[in-house]
Amino acid sequence: MRTRHFLTESFFADCLATEVNFLPSRLKIRCSFAGCKRALRGCLAVCAWAALAVIAQSASAQPAPAAPQARFVVVLDAAHGGDDTGGRLSENQVEKSFTLALSVRLRSLLAARGIQVVTTRESDATVAPDKRAEIANHAQAQACLSLHASASGSGVHLFTSSLTPVQPTRFAAWKTAQAAWVTRSLALAGVLNSAIQHAGMNVTLGRIALPAVDSMTCPAVAVEVAPERGAGQQIAAGLDSPDYQAHVAEALAAAILEWRTEAWRTEAHP
Ligand SMILES: [Zn+2]
Repeated sequence: MRTRHFLTESFFADCLATEVNFLPSRLKIRCSFAGCKRALRGCLAVCAWAALAVIAQSASAQPAPAAPQARFVVVLDAAHGGDDTGGRLSENQVEKSFTLALSVRLRSLLAARGIQVVTTRESDATVAPDKRAEIANHAQAQACLSLHASASGSGVHLFTSSLTPVQPTRFAAWKTAQAAWVTRSLALAGVLNSAIQHAGMNVTLGRIALPAVDSMTCPAVAVEVAPERGAGQQIAAGLDSPDYQAHVAEALAAAILEWRTEAWRTEAHP
C-alpha cells in the first residue's frame, strides 16, 4: 500500500514530515515513507534519462536548413567583341569596349545583390551569335540582357524580338526559339522601361530581328545605350562618362531585382 501512498491525498499530509533542504551546493530531499523514496528515486531516474536525451539530441541537432529559394540566373551578353568592333561611338570609343565595360559593371552590381550571373564574354573575344544563344540557353536563365551601344538616339533603347509569339513546344527550332518567349521578353522590357524612366532617363521601345536573341529560350531584351540628350538634342551625358555608365548600370540592376521579385511571386502563386 505504500506505493499507492505516493498518489493519495494523505501523501501530502505525510510528506509534511519530509525534510527538504535547498542548499547552494546540494539538494537534500528526505521522506519518512519507503514508498515515497522509491517513487522519488524513480522520478529522479526518469528525469535524468530525459535530461540526457535532451542533451544528446541538442548535441546532434543540425541547424535548420534555410527555406529553398527559387533559382534565378541572369545572362549578360556583351555584344560584339574581337574582330567585331560594333559601332564607333566616338573618336576613342568603340561599341565592343563599351558593352564589355557595362557587362562587368552590371555583373558586379547583380552579384552584390546575390544574383547569379553568366556572361557570354569576359574579354575582347569574338563570340558568334549562335554561341551566345547557346550559353544563354544552357544557363536556363530567367533574364538575358544583350548589351549594345549607339552614338545616335537618346537614353536607352530596348528591343525585343520581332518574332510572332507562339505557344511553347517541346523542341524549339533554332533561329526562332525566342518566339515562345516573346511575351515574357516584352514583360521584361516593360520592367526595364519602368526602372530606366524612374532613374530619369529617356527610353525607346522597339522590336527587331537579332540573331543571338532570336535563338534564346529565355526572356531576352537587347539594351542599346545611347547618350542622354537634352531638349535641344545636345548631349547631356556622353557614353564615355563614368557617371552615366554607372547610372545606366544601376537602373538595369534595379530592373533585374524587380524582375526577380515578380518571378518569385509568380512561382509562389502560379
Ligand atoms: Zn551593337
